[in-house]
Amino acid sequence: MILLQGKGVSKGVTSGPICFFQRPGSDIAKIPAADIESEKARIREAQEKSMAQLETLADKAREETGEDTAILARTMGIPAICGLGDSLKEEYAGRTAYIDGETGKVAMDPDELTLTAFKQKEQKQVEMRTLMDEMRGKEDVTLDGRKMMVYCNIGSPDDVPAVLQNDGQGIGLFRSEFLYLAASDYPTEEEQFKAYKKVAEAMNGKRVVIRTLDIGADKQVSYFNLQKEENPAMGVRAIRICLNRPEVFRTQLRALYRASAYGKVAIMFPMITSVWEVRECKRACQAVMAELDAEGIPYSKDTEIGIMVETPASVFIADALAKEVDFFSVGTNDLTQYTLACDRQANDLGKFFDPHHPAVLRALKIAADAAHKADIWIGICGELGADLSLLDTFLAIGIDELSVSPSSVLPLRAKIRESTAKTCTLELLEC
Ligand code: PEP
Ligand code: MG
Repeated sequence: MILLQGKGVSKGVTSGPICFFQRPGSDIAKIPAADIESEKARIREAQEKSMAQLETLADKAREETGEDTAILARTMGIPAICGLGDSLKEEYAGRTAYIDGETGKVAMDPDELTLTAFKQKEQKQVEMRTLMDEMRGKEDVTLDGRKMMVYCNIGSPDDVPAVLQNDGQGIGLFRSEFLYLAASDYPTEEEQFKAYKKVAEAMNGKRVVIRTLDIGADKQVSYFNLQKEENPAMGVRAIRICLNRPEVFRTQLRALYRASAYGKVAIMFPMITSVWEVRECKRACQAVMAELDAEGIPYSKDTEIGIMVETPASVFIADALAKEVDFFSVGTNDLTQYTLACDRQANDLGKFFDPHHPAVLRALKIAADAAHKADIWIGICGELGADLSLLDTFLAIGIDELSVSPSSVLPLRAKIRESTAKTCTLELLEC
């Protein structure tokens, strides 16, 4: 038996032959965007054939975090492990392995004891699925009646079946970047419209929050010709690009408003730091609505507008921002990065990168209080939303919505249904 230890990034136990989906060790940033789509197709194909989903499935196997891969795997409900390092050898391809996407353990040719432990966990997993299926269609309320909206994060229309399969009540974050990352030139209004409409229609009246493009920082697109920056995470990214390039912004907004005629679309702006930015976004929305009116093109006048709260600035002025929009959604990935001054892409920050830090949780509370004072809803769409150990804290803070990977929906629902909101405390906000 060969035992390897990595970092579990997508829960679940599975077994089968090890297969490499990309050259091991290749860096996702160096793979042409179009290849990422074909990579996803290959993963899907393998999933259908029930092959082992060892993290070798993707391209960051030898790296520490593999964040993009982890998000992809969680969205698809595939158990995944990162950070196996050099212990993962190419000659292992084809050998039978058991993997535990929670503990990060990989066992090749397991001995009897190890095999029994894996099988028991696999059995528990089956029982959990059965229980989860029983909850399908039921409301997400705590024992004392507090409602929580449980939505999903998606990265492309192809992820919608996983949302429906897992009974997501809406989409809390549709990252629209895939349209830009997968193309070699700016996607047209028509191309965007088709993608947004497809999701809006498939969700059949359930809320679909579509985030305007969040290019820049770790998501580089060559045809944007962005300047090389020393600190791209703090550079011209996301809403800053949109406000600097009104034509690019207008094209996306037209596509979004047109799609709003086919479902319950909400528009969300990323990386907001100032009230003037939100006002400028709203002016751009109004201009687009006036154009569509003049052209006789249908759209929903009730389309909600929201912002991502993911910078410390947006937390400090949350009271003013809340008066401008219909909802907040907290991007805890970036909020943690900027609050703790810890690069979310860095591999070696270890215990310094702590999303449970009281500063991050207090930021959530400040934003939630401001939202509720202005009578708007607040959700979390960063990875922290799926952290079951924080559910009590989110309930105590008053979070209204959690948007998570489709595969995280059912465990979250189960936990909500056994919680009692009034006994939840804010103790984790203490230092
Ligand atoms: C976040 O920052 O938490 C978030 C949801 O957005 P992204 O991970 O796409 O930056
Ligand atoms: Mg973000």
